[in-house]
Order: sequence, then structure tokens, then C-alpha cells
Amino acid sequence: MAPIKRVWEKGRVLRAAAEAMVLLPALSLLTFWVGGETALVVLAVLAPAVWLALSSSLRPSEPVPPPRGLGGAEDMVGFLDPILRDMPIKGRTTACFVISFDDPARQFDRHGQALRDQVVLRTAERLSAAVREGDLVVRLADGSLAVGLSAVRRYDLETAVQMATRLRSEAIVPIVVDALTLHPSVSVGFCLAERAPAPKGSSLLDAACIAADEALFHGPGAIRAFQPDMSRRRADRVLLRQGVQKALDEGQIRPWFQPQICADTGRLSGFEALARWHHPERGIISPADFLPVIEEAGLSERLGDVILYGALAALNRWDQAGFAVPQVSINLSASELRAPGLANKLSWEMDRFGLDRSRLTVEVLETVTATSEDDQVIANLAAIAKMGFGIDLDDFGTGQASIGNIRRFSIRRIKIDRSFVTHIDTDPEQKKVVAAILMLCDQLGLQTVAEGVETPGERVVLEQLGCSFLQGFGIARPMAMEETFSWIERAEAALQAKPALGRIIPPRQG
Ligand code: C2E
Ligand code: CA
Ligand code: CA
Repeated sequence: MAPIKRVWEKGRVLRAAAEAMVLLPALSLLTFWVGGETALVVLAVLAPAVWLALSSSLRPSEPVPPPRGLGGAEDMVGFLDPILRDMPIKGRTTACFVISFDDPARQFDRHGQALRDQVVLRTAERLSAAVREGDLVVRLADGSLAVGLSAVRRYDLETAVQMATRLRSEAIVPIVVDALTLHPSVSVGFCLAERAPAPKGSSLLDAACIAADEALFHGPGAIRAFQPDMSRRRADRVLLRQGVQKALDEGQIRPWFQPQICADTGRLSGFEALARWHHPERGIISPADFLPVIEEAGLSERLGDVILYGALAALNRWDQAGFAVPQVSINLSASELRAPGLANKLSWEMDRFGLDRSRLTVEVLETVTATSEDDQVIANLAAIAKMGFGIDLDDFGTGQASIGNIRRFSIRRIKIDRSFVTHIDTDPEQKKVVAAILMLCDQLGLQTVAEGVETPGERVVLEQLGCSFLQGFGIARPMAMEETFSWIERAEAALQAKPALGRIIPPRQG
């Protein structure tokens, strides 16, 4: 029997025993009538003793059932343990799912803990209604929910993914609490019984939690099945989490710079600043590995400040060295874009470094502009454009930005995502798509930057199609500040030696 049900059973027996106490006076009279004074004395001694013995043997070691019968991790372990133990004999299996709220601090904190509890309870009710009778839904200490399946004959990965998708769909239906409509977002991790590191309920639940943690890391709305190397990755993330604040404070995180060139002339048109973590033990760590950790720790704005400072200091150093670097681009995360006063901060920093505003471009992800109805984002971008900074739409083609938004956000350049640029010289379909994007931008009066230009062939086609700027490993990889000086010198020397170098001569056919 499920532990949660066992707790209820014990509670019922106790209640029945308590109710039976009302019969005690009648029982005393009957005893006196049948057995006289001696029998009455025996009853007076025995009755409390029996009651004490009964209540202590029945007092549940588990806590009294939580509201609405929603148990905790120990209930799940107790539920899964016998299924896993009997698995080799009975040939029945199970799986455990953990449903975690994406970025709960942002979703709920401003509404208070009581509301968060209500959302969790309501979600638990929905999940309970969506699973089969006999399955168990519990709440974990961190506010996630776990679902354990009652023993089933077969359960494969595909069925589990379908189940995880269903649980996610149930959990994200808007919830109205106290006249507030909330749109919860969850990620789901799961583990099949056969994949648990050990045939124990605790091991299966733990594996599902690790998978949920991985899903959260890749979320929002991600689903992940447990894999053994996830434990190591989680341990890595914990270490990164612990070190990230220190890394920012001690200057271990700083910008590297990747050149952008003008397609027509081959001249340097600017650099994109890309964050790198110079980890004392692990060497250079790329943003894909630490940005989610920064986001999770609420340190995005702090990172933004560090990169902005590094980028503006770099412009000063290039100017002092006599290098013509027209501008530098920085990437803005969604949370930075939501921060009030962003435009003023940028402008103040430019003044502090004595730089003209036209020398800073902010890159905004297409996905952010496409999905953002946030008034603060719109106000920030409008102010940034009005002050004379450039705005580039990053990863164009991946996020369904509307023409309306491109206009509304005063975008100056479109950065065509690498996925469209790659193999443009050998894949006619790629070429058609990029040609269409370039034509659209031309009509709208927008400049274009092709990202991820890796080969001379790709570069030639982009130049022929009329793309304005090029960026990619084919021109140069991102480099540390100190390396930029010699790179600029070499690039300028190459241009002077061969004025047509900007246009790489296509490889001869045949
Ligand atoms: P992104 O803004 O799209 O930056 C371009 C990424 O593509 C960079 O990866 C760059 O190294 C890589 N790349 C450039 N050319 C090529 C190429 O020819 N081939 C290939 N395969 N890759 C190329 P990186 O530096 O790892 O950055 C990854 C993402 O992290 C960036 O994508 C950006 O979204 C984010 N990021 C980087 N720095 C920052 C930052 O300071 N703040 C924020 N919010 N995000 C940042
Ligand atoms: Ca970018
Ligand atoms: Ca990009």
C-alpha cells in the first residue's frame, strides 16, 4: 500500500479508538453490575493501559497527512521501493517524473510564498487528475512535484517522453489565484526504473531530480531523461555556481573580441564582445557553459556591467594605440533589457569613457523581441535608439520577429543566424533563403551582418548577394584583448598589400 494511504489508515484507527472512549461510562456500569467492585478496579487500571498501548503502537512515525493528502519525498521513496524490489520477480517496472517550476523566483517571489504554495497545490491536483489511479503525486522540499507510476508491465523511453509532455501541458495551464492569472512554466525530468543507478526508490527519485535539474538548466519548458553523466554535470554546475560571483568580482570573466568586417572593402567595421571565463583551474570556459549559471544566480546585470566596462575600455585602448575601430557590440540578455534605466546607464558610461554613443551597438536576441510584450523592454530599446546607440537583431531567422517589431524596436542591423549562412556556397536552398532575407532588409533600409562565416566560399557568395558586414571564424575567431592589436595590424597590412583582399578570389572551378 502506498505510504500516504498507510498514514491515512492509521489515522482512522486512532480516531475510532478515540470515539470508543464515549462508551467508557456505560462499560463501567456493566462491569460493576456483572463483576462487582473488583472488576471495576481491574477495568479502571486496564482501560488507560490499553488506550496508551494502542495509541503508542498506532501513532504514526510519519508526519500527519499533509493537506489534501499531498505527501513528500519519503512517501515517494516508500511507494517506489517495493516496485523496484519486486521488479526482477514480477517483471513489472515503473518510472519517476519530477516537475520543476522554471525560475520560481521570477515566477512567484513578487507574489509571496502563500501564492506559490497555492500554485503548487493546484498543479498537484491537476497532475493527480491526469495520472492513473494508483500513481502517486508528491511535493518535494524545493517546491517541485514528483509523480511515481504504479507498477506496469512495460514502459519505454518514448512512452515516458509522451507522459512528460502531458504532465508539462497540465502544469502550464494558466492558474487563477486571488484574481491573479498566472502562467506557470515548468521543466520536467524523469528516470525509468531500469536506468536508476540503484534499484531503490531513493535512487530513482534522485535520478529524476537530477534530470529535472538538467531540464531546468536547458529550460524553460525543457524535458530531459536521466543519463549517468548528468550527475557529473550537475556537480560541475554546483561548482560553477559557487565560483561565479567570485569570478565576476576578481575579473576572471572578461570580454573577448571577434572582428566584423565590411563586405565591400574588407575593412574592420567593429568587434563583438563575447564573454569568457578565465577559470584558474579549468582554463577558458565559454558562455554556453556559464551564462545559465549567471542567469540563475541573478547576476546577468553584473555580467553586463563587466562586459560593457571591458568593451568601452577596449575602445579607449584602440583609440590610444591609433587603431581605427569604429564600434563595438555587446550582447544584452532578456533580464538586462528589462532593467529600468538601462539607456541612461549606457549613456552615462559612454560619457565616463569619453566616447561617442555611435560607437556602441547593443545586440538583442530575435527571440526576445519576438516574444516580449514587456513595456520596460520596449521603453528601453526606444530610449537606446533615440540616444544614438546602434541596435542589432541577433540570431535573425530563429525567433519569428515580426516586421512590426523590427520597426518598433528601431533595429539598425539584422544579424543573419549562422544556421542560414553555413554551406551557402554549396546549398542552393540556403542561398535562396539568405537572398530573400537580404532583399527584405534592403527594402526596409536595414543593414545586414552574416554570422558564422567560416569558409572563403561562403564569404564570396555573401559578398555577391550584397550582405553589408561579415563575421565568423573565416575572418577571425574571438580573441583576447591583447591579441587584437597584432590582428588589426596584420589585417591592415594585408589590405594594403592587396587592396582587393576584402574580396577573396573564389577558388577556380574545374
Ligand atoms: P552570439 O551572440 O550569437 O555570438 C556568436 C557566437 O558564435 C559566439 O559564441 C562566437 O564565438 C560564435 N561564432 C562566431 N563565428 C563563428 C563561426 O564561424 N562558426 C561557429 N561555429 N561559431 C562562430 P560564444 O562566444 O560561445 O557565445 C555564445 C553565445 O553566448 C553568444 O551567441 C551570445 O548569445 C552569448 N553571449 C556571449 N557573450 C555574452 C555576454 O557578454 N552577454 C550575454 N548576455 N550573452 C553573451
Ligand atoms: Ca551576438
Ligand atoms: Ca548571433
